[in-house]
Amino acid sequence: MTHIVKILSIEKITHDVLRIVTEKPSGYDFVPGQATDVCVNKDGWKEEKRAFTFTCLPSDNHLEFTTKTYPEHKGVTNQLLQLKKNDELILHDVFGDIAYKGEGVFIAGGAGITPFISIFRDLQSKNAVGNNILIFANKTKADIIHEEFFSKLLGKNFINILSDEKAEGCANGYINEAFLKANIPSGTKHIYLCGPPPMMEAVEKILSGMKFDERAITKEGF
Ligand SMILES: Cc1cc2nc3c(=O)[nH]c(=O)nc-3n(C[C@H](O)[C@H](O)[C@H](O)COP(=O)(O)OP(=O)(O)OC[C@H]3O[C@@H](n4cnc5c(N)ncnc54)[C@H](O)[C@@H]3O)c2cc1C
Repeated sequence: MTHIVKILSIEKITHDVLRIVTEKPSGYDFVPGQATDVCVNKDGWKEEKRAFTFTCLPSDNHLEFTTKTYPEHKGVTNQLLQLKKNDELILHDVFGDIAYKGEGVFIAGGAGITPFISIFRDLQSKNAVGNNILIFANKTKADIIHEEFFSKLLGKNFINILSDEKAEGCANGYINEAFLKANIPSGTKHIYLCGPPPMMEAVEKILSGMKFDERAITKEGF
């Protein structure tokens, strides 16, 4: 089933990430972490589906998407960059494998943070952030989505690693075994993993070497 929704606001929140707020169809429900396929309601783009995650709360009376844009792909996210208030998106059914299962360590790469935005907002609204840890891998400090929100919410449990830049308070390089051993507390029951496939593969290989049961890992590739 499809729903046509109007854009209520659209703005850049980093140099290449858009926050898009839309109308919410009645009865349209999701669990924090889930996504839908989105098309731009313009000639030539109505069939071009791309998956985007809801980053608002299920109880909000609007929907929010947080989308990294790739103008060089000349694809859907480049079209999103041209959109204005009152333009329309076509939404499809809700899907997605990521949902909160209990306290653990979240590992995100770039736009792979989006399911965790919704989950952490939900935990915040329930006063249940607890000892959850977020490891966020990006190229540079300017790429960190919602840095202030996560810093305030998680304090020392917000751990940043940058591959292409050295910055105060952030580790430098790619996620490796020593980094995960230093930052995943022993006894961790749940790992949540979302990011580009090469990053996911590398992290899963390290986790399996660290003897993490595959069933303890909740994941989705972007
Ligand atoms: C379940 C799920 C949820 C997701 N949620 C989000 C989210 O909330 N936010 C978010 O930002 N992303 C999210 N993603 C990722 C998002 O769907 C993709 O980034 C998006 O599809 C990119 O669309 P695009 O049309 O701009 O580019 P693409 O579909 O990647 O590419 C369009 C065309 O460009 C060409 N192309 C591909 N790579 C290159 C390249 N390197 N250089 C030049 N041309 C190229 C290809 O031929 C392709 O046909 C999610 C993905 C999944 C699976």
